[in-house]
Amino acid sequence: MDVYLASPRGFCAGVVRAVDIVELALAKFGPPVYVKHQIVHNPHVVADLEAKGARTIEHVEDIPHGAVVVFSAHGSPPSDYDAARKQNLHVIDATCPLVTRVHNEAKKYAREGKQVILVGHRGHQEVIGTTGQAPMTLFDEREEFPSDGWKQGVEVAVLTQTTLSVRDTAKAVSEIQKRYPAAIVRNDICYATTNRQEAAQELAKLTQIVLVIGAQNSSNCNRLREVAIAEGVPAYLINGPDEMNMEWFKGVKRVGITSGASTPEKLVQAVVKALGPASVIHIGGGEENITFTLPRELRDSQKPANTVSGD
Ligand code: SF4
Repeated sequence: MDVYLASPRGFCAGVVRAVDIVELALAKFGPPVYVKHQIVHNPHVVADLEAKGARTIEHVEDIPHGAVVVFSAHGSPPSDYDAARKQNLHVIDATCPLVTRVHNEAKKYAREGKQVILVGHRGHQEVIGTTGQAPMTLFDEREEFPSDGWKQGVEVAVLTQTTLSVRDTAKAVSEIQKRYPAAIVRNDICYATTNRQEAAQELAKLTQIVLVIGAQNSSNCNRLREVAIAEGVPAYLINGPDEMNMEWFKGVKRVGITSGASTPEKLVQAVVKALGPASVIHIGGGEENITFTLPRELRDSQKPANTVSGD
């Protein structure tokens, strides 16, 4: 059996920044550092940071008065910042700058009096954060197109969650454009999501089965699995080698592997090792040279050795 490894895969710039922020906050302020929501959607990343003194908490109200808290990469609604102020928390914001850009677009279009439509998945943390920024209508493309609540004679701006399927989002946007041909459409699907989906598509064309390494609650990992399935190959989303079923590989000579934007590379390497392939073939190879600056208060801090991002 040969393993085909897709590139790019794994950590994006927003995840590297978010994990670095927690590690730098721990180094600067000492544990515990609270993290509102999972810093990124991967249980291994969360567990590694918790072993160093991070405490993941879902509701701001449950964080002790005056504590240091990092808000997760997915973005948070203004109500969370208000709650943090009331509790005198020291907030360090790890919202990915590409998510912040969507928040700013939402506020701008709402200020201009436009009807904002967000294409996104109901209940996802990023969507909770974005819908809190301004009045808007959510269109979850997995559901029926909503038949009511569509005003006519208004200007419309369409925004999207950053981690959606490129293909499904295009369909959703064209549904909206049937109602509002003059709608302003922003493409907010981020570079990391787009690049990993393109690589997964190429991977699926070359292989007989695709393994996506990552967490079940990771939006971009789920989209990678769907991209591979759309190319006609079976695809499984697994956290690591323990979740593999060797029945999947009967008669299979070419296994494709990729990973989502929140998956540490060590998990990909553990799966490759468990498969014990005759050879590992690297495909794709699109370089990503994007980095995001840290919050000002952490820029001069030193990262400790043995960092999660360094995997
Ligand atoms: S997946 Fe995209 S939007 Fe999300 S953290 Fe990474 S770069 Fe930012």
